[in-house]
Amino acid sequence: MLELEQTRELLTQLGLPTAAGLLDAQLEAVAQGEITYLSFLFGLLDVEKQERQRRSEEVRMKFSRLPHRKTLQDFDFSFQPSIDVRQIKESSTLAFVARKENVVLLGPPGVGKTHLAVGLSMQALRTGLTVYYATLPQLIADLRKALQTGKLETKMKRYLRPDILVIDEVGYMQLDRQAAEVLFRLVCLRYENGSIILTSNKFFTNWGELLSDAVIATALLDRLLHHAHVINIRGESYRLKGRAKAGFKTTPPTILQPAIS
Ligand code: ADP
Ligand code: MG
Repeated sequence: MLELEQTRELLTQLGLPTAAGLLDAQLEAVAQGEITYLSFLFGLLDVEKQERQRRSEEVRMKFSRLPHRKTLQDFDFSFQPSIDVRQIKESSTLAFVARKENVVLLGPPGVGKTHLAVGLSMQALRTGLTVYYATLPQLIADLRKALQTGKLETKMKRYLRPDILVIDEVGYMQLDRQAAEVLFRLVCLRYENGSIILTSNKFFTNWGELLSDAVIATALLDRLLHHAHVINIRGESYRLKGRAKAGFKTTPPTILQPAIS
């Protein structure tokens, strides 16, 4: 019994607390002749590894600041036939992350841009990758504050380190020159260094106006789109799905419609 206590303690001291917790049950299984010695050891190590992965995913999930935990499995592709399912499947292999490529989701409000960005992010978190999510207004406010307090370089790291940076809701807020320059810098620094998943309700032709500077917009789009998978969603808002039946108008307001489609 002393040996059992000591073994349990050793496992904990060696950083294997989950295995320590399973020790009694595994010993019992061996005693009953249910498992081999090899399965006994494998069981202890495997449970420890799984628990570590779960905790690591949870930590990365918290750090990512994703607005929710919706997955690609939760997405009803039949509702959005303009989406090429193969393109999403291909993106969900995350090969684009290894290649430091970008994914750009375009479309009017409610068609599932954020859901798909989060779904791809969830997939990435599951495979051990790091993600950071911000809406463009959040990102700009954060970096502008850092700029004013002389902490831009430090703050920038938060947006440069993760394997995937999600920039959501590009297009709802027009940027002034300073904000446009900060965004441009960020896109330049991540270019060929780390993936961006970006969502926007505005087509690229409107980005000059959006960034209050046609030259910056062109240079930014040049880098963003050089290695990018553009997913163009033309459909009805899922938010208004139920209401459509009740006779509500489902087309988004004209000012939010892309100029070209
Ligand atoms: P967008 O970012 O394009 O404005 P969201 O991704 O926020 O749209 O989608 C709006 C809401 O509708 C969310 O709750 C999202 O989960 C849901 N949703 C959108 N499209 C689908 C879909 N095809 N299947 C399931 N849920 C969807
Ligand atoms: Mg959205």
